[in-house]
Amino acid sequence: MQEVTAKQDTENKRKKGVSVKKADIILGVSVITAAIFLLAARSFFQKDGALVVVEKDGRSYGAFSLMKNQEIWIGTGNRIKIQDQKVWMIFSDCPDHLCEHQGIIQTEGETIVCLPHRVVVQIEEDRETQEEKPDVIVS
Ligand SMILES: [Zn+2]
Repeated sequence: MQEVTAKQDTENKRKKGVSVKKADIILGVSVITAAIFLLAARSFFQKDGALVVVEKDGRSYGAFSLMKNQEIWIGTGNRIKIQDQKVWMIFSDCPDHLCEHQGIIQTEGETIVCLPHRVVVQIEEDRETQEEKPDVIVS
């Protein structure tokens, strides 16, 4: 046991030696923090803030960030995919499959409509602030 304590003592002394450069560490940390902050700010301002707004049966179904790659079920009959800031209908069990053939939408105001399922997928500008923006809303 004593041996262990002695070892810890030596280690503590060694740490003290390192702590002389505490100022350097603090400086490094602040530089990194500033860099992270700048990156975060930049990505916030660069974001064109588009949302993929989904309606089903005339009611709001959810709003999803266009920036986040994901697949979303709309009810059980439709499935959309968001990837690389593009959206398309990857699956629909509607009779006409027109929605699947509407292809990719990626700019504000563009829509994909599935008439049989009364589904509307539209890209909208995110006018709200970050905190009000829902990442995912699932009914
Ligand atoms: Zn359809």
